[in-house]
Amino acid sequence: MDKKRVFSGTRATGKLHLGNYLGAVKGYLALANDPAYETIFMVMDLHAVTTPYDKEKLADNTRNVIMDYLACGIDPAKSIITAQSLVPEHAYLADLLSTEISVARMQHLPTFKEKVAQHPNNVTMALLNYPVLMAADILLYKASLVPVGIDQEPHLEVAREIARKMNEKYGTDFPEPKRFATKGEYVPSLTGEGKMSKSVEGSYINLTDSLDEIKKKLSGAPTDSGKGDKVPKKGGVANLLQFVGLFEGEEKRKKYEKDYLGGGIRYGELKAELAEAIYKELEPIQKQRKVYENDPLLVDRIIKEGAKKAEKIASATLQEVKDKMGFI
Ligand code: ADP
Repeated sequence: MDKKRVFSGTRATGKLHLGNYLGAVKGYLALANDPAYETIFMVMDLHAVTTPYDKEKLADNTRNVIMDYLACGIDPAKSIITAQSLVPEHAYLADLLSTEISVARMQHLPTFKEKVAQHPNNVTMALLNYPVLMAADILLYKASLVPVGIDQEPHLEVAREIARKMNEKYGTDFPEPKRFATKGEYVPSLTGEGKMSKSVEGSYINLTDSLDEIKKKLSGAPTDSGKGDKVPKKGGVANLLQFVGLFEGEEKRKKYEKDYLGGGIRYGELKAELAEAIYKELEPIQKQRKVYENDPLLVDRIIKEGAKKAEKIASATLQEVKDKMGFI
């Protein structure tokens, strides 16, 4: 039986943070190490330019995400790893797929509205087309499983809708892609509000942060008096407890919840322990990253070889779609 394909990616907007790691990369690793799947992981640099960006930093940001992937243990011998812009079929297929979805459908997406609110002077066609490009990324490889955070669900719905329409109208055989969820599918912001995100200063911990940096960032996370008759379900304390669950286990989290309802939590201690636990998970990744930082030629070779392998699959799909759509 043929292997099932998996596709996912992260925008080239900087280094990876704990949200990307727990919500996406941990899922990449689980699937990459399962022989039932053929996995393709990219840095989405075409998606990175849909919001304002610095052209001097784009290539470095792209390499940084690749190095984070490699440092986390994604193995180029098992997975295709490359940058989206090196496989031009992504943009070409996005153009073809955009014939199957309305402007109104795109304008109503919550993710589009969020970006419009963040960048009111940058409401471009590229931004509107973001979900169509993402559909093309996935359908180009006929991927059926997509490890991404829960924030991406509306975009996956668009990809499924486009796949259905293409299959009905042109007889293509696109699978309707499903999300592969991880335990950390929603990692909250350190600010106590919303999700951890690169675009919100003070919200994130990067995979490259030192123990001191982690401690400093956690010390700014909002707390309360440490006790009460109900454990908070949202806000700073709830988020801290979620991090405890993710990095120190559910038992520890329950212990703190008991403390909250009883004698009280000492947040200084909680934060110090949590910082150690986070750093313990990041330290081996940081060590491994140094190997790639010191060997840029190796990183470039992995990117180029990945692009070649991806292009082989992508060009076959694109040709098939063009034929089915009636092009010359
Ligand atoms: P960001 O929102 O920080 O710019 P991206 O949009 O590039 O990150 O997302 C890359 C991947 O990381 C996606 O799969 C996304 O769902 C996941 N992700 C991003 N932030 C979080 C988070 N706070 N919790 C869980 N997953 C997340």
